[in-house]
Amino acid sequence: MTLLAGLIARRIAAEGPMRLSDYMALCLLHPEHGYYATRDPFGAAGDFTTAPEISQMFGEMLGLCLAQVWMDQGRPSRFLLAEIGPGRGTLMADVRRVIARVPGMADAAELHLVEASAHLRGVQRATLAGHSVHWHDSIRDLPEGPLYLLANEFFDALPIRQFQRSDDGWAERQVGLKGDALVLGLAPPAPLALLAHRLADTHPGEIVEICPQATEIAAAIATRIARDGGVAIWIDYGGWISRGDTFQALHHHQSVDPLAAPGSADLTAHVDFEPLARAARRAGAMTSAMTPQGVLLERLGITGRAQALAQKLQGTALESHIAAHRRLTHPAEMGNLFQTLAVFPADAPPPPGFDPAPQSGGHP
Ligand code: SAH
Repeated sequence: MTLLAGLIARRIAAEGPMRLSDYMALCLLHPEHGYYATRDPFGAAGDFTTAPEISQMFGEMLGLCLAQVWMDQGRPSRFLLAEIGPGRGTLMADVRRVIARVPGMADAAELHLVEASAHLRGVQRATLAGHSVHWHDSIRDLPEGPLYLLANEFFDALPIRQFQRSDDGWAERQVGLKGDALVLGLAPPAPLALLAHRLADTHPGEIVEICPQATEIAAAIATRIARDGGVAIWIDYGGWISRGDTFQALHHHQSVDPLAAPGSADLTAHVDFEPLARAARRAGAMTSAMTPQGVLLERLGITGRAQALAQKLQGTALESHIAAHRRLTHPAEMGNLFQTLAVFPADAPPPPGFDPAPQSGGHP
């Protein structure tokens, strides 16, 4: 049993079953035993590999997109270049390198990182050595100013709640105890205003997920962008609307039981873009349509960049470069599994590369 498992079991014994969101938050962010607090989960030796760790081209394309938005919005002489959940800081380093090629842009950029893990802040400090960086605990702590914000695989790490529809309402899935073991169970069903709109497209027995923290953060970002200008680009594994149980645990690139060893595996859930887009629009910003990562990267010019980089490579380095390009863009790899959404002010042109949202604001 991990130390964290003992701590969670004692809490459940004293207070009763806990929501999945409380379990997930403890496992990921407990200051001593939490997953992100204790390790560097990225890369071949870790539990998962993210797009910026696969190739520099990912950050370069997003940097080009931000550069076009900066020019389209009148080249503000000071802006926040921000990232939430920056991992190792690789994406920010690649973006920073690209915008340094745009006259005036790097000098105008103030770097702000929102990161919960003290351990990963240390890794980010090393990756971004030589740059002046401000760290924050929460998006609410960012200073005012035009906000150019990236979030890659951030929303999928936020705690979700799950509900199973029954004939009498919605039963919340909870983590309880059976002997010493953690087990999933259901609270008694009750009507739930929050999910009233899902009665039309679900059947009894189906599971629906919500991520209250994600919609709050989406609204806070969009409020800022509507007021101060800028753009937010969100990239994540997921789809338009929640369908079924997507709660999962990864350990050394293998899927494992999410209750088996709390704190030692990465816990995630698919990101639903519909509630994020709705929150952003309600906050007064515009949104793009949900656009597949592969399509976005192709439109931003990744193939030309891949060819230019290939000129200098040979042998296994060339092979892995070609594989990285394929992995990021191909529909059978990350190209379709990962989706993107842009948030921008109503009076600004849409950022390049994204599909325009249909009139209804829904998914095309
Ligand atoms: N964007 C990076 C890392 C993704 S992993 C990449 O693409 O490689 C998720 C990141 O979000 C980690 O840096 C983790 O520490 C951070 N994180 C998770 N929950 C957070 C929260 N509530 N607030 C701030 N950062 C959080």
